[in-house]
This record gives sequence, C-alpha cells and structure tokens, in this order.
Amino acid sequence: MRSPTWDARTSSGYGSRSRHGIHGVLDIETALAAADTASRLRDRVASGEKISGPAASRALSAAAQTPRFEGRIVTRAFAHKAAAFLARDGVVLYDNPDAFLICAFKRDNALCEPAPGATAPRQYDCRPGCGNTVRTDTHAHQLRQRAAELDSLAARAPGPIAGRLRANAAQLRATAEPSEAPA
Ligand code: SF4
Repeated sequence: MRSPTWDARTSSGYGSRSRHGIHGVLDIETALAAADTASRLRDRVASGEKISGPAASRALSAAAQTPRFEGRIVTRAFAHKAAAFLARDGVVLYDNPDAFLICAFKRDNALCEPAPGATAPRQYDCRPGCGNTVRTDTHAHQLRQRAAELDSLAARAPGPIAGRLRANAAQLRATAEPSEAPA
C-alpha cells in the first residue's frame, strides 16, 4: 500500500506552532523520526526481509499508514499534524537501535512504564518481552553480530567474566530467533 505524503517544504517558522516552544519542536522531530522508521521498515519488507515479534502485524499496518515527507522544512499545518499523529496510540513506530528493535508503541502494552498519557516510550528503559517489540532480519543479524563480539571478548577474559559474557551472547542469540504472536 502506498503511504500518504506530508509536504513539509514551505516554512512558517517554529514560532507559529500550536504547541509552543520545546514541546512543539520535539513533536516535529519525533514525528519525522517515526516517519523515517516507518519508511525504513517498508523498504526492508519490500526488499524481502521478514519481520517478527508480538507487534509485527500492527507495525506493518502502521508503516503503511505513516505519511512520507517531502523536504525537511516545516509548515504550519505540519506542526498540527505532528502532534495529532503522535497521539495515535499503537501506530507510531520508534526506532530503538540500542535494543535492536522497533517499538510499535502502545501505551497499555509497554513494559518501560511510560507516564500516564505518554505518547512515546521510555526507550532507554526498554525491557525484554514487551508486546510492542518488532524485529526485522537486520535486527536479528545485528543481535548475532553482537553475540559474536561478546564471545570473542569471552575468549580473552578470566573465568567468571567469560562465563557472564557467554551467557549474554547466548541470550542475544535466543532473542534473535523469530517470535510470532498477534499484535
Ligand atoms: S519496553 Fe521497549 S518495546 Fe516496550 S514500549 Fe518500552 S521501549 Fe517500546
């Protein structure tokens, strides 16, 4: 499905947004980042990558609905759209490279304990087993690469530390295995 387009080419300046100051700026930056994440997910699926995780089908649907952007200068209308877009619980995709996943953020599922009414996850506190998790083949590959690095470190580390590194590597490999569940 072709996604709609948000045209962000004509600037009216940050000062004219409905949510003023830093909140308005953050809404726009967050919406742009989410659109990039959706775009990359569409591209990966189109190139044949498989996706897995409890929120996989919801993420595919969200990615298809997420607008593309033309240009990077922000219109007055776009500022309104950004805030409204972020408020749509369950359809905003957040890239989380540190956890090797995409978060299809749905507040009620989130294990990172977002504040009541939050429209974004606490990605720095991302926790295993969350129902908002989505992984592509690329994420699985990155997890296995990281596991190999840990095994390599373990080969040069003293006993107890080597054991811990190998256990972490095994956990990463297990995480890389595809998991399927309804979104
Ligand atoms: S725990 Fe991770 S996957 Fe779950 S909502 Fe928070 S950031 Fe997203």
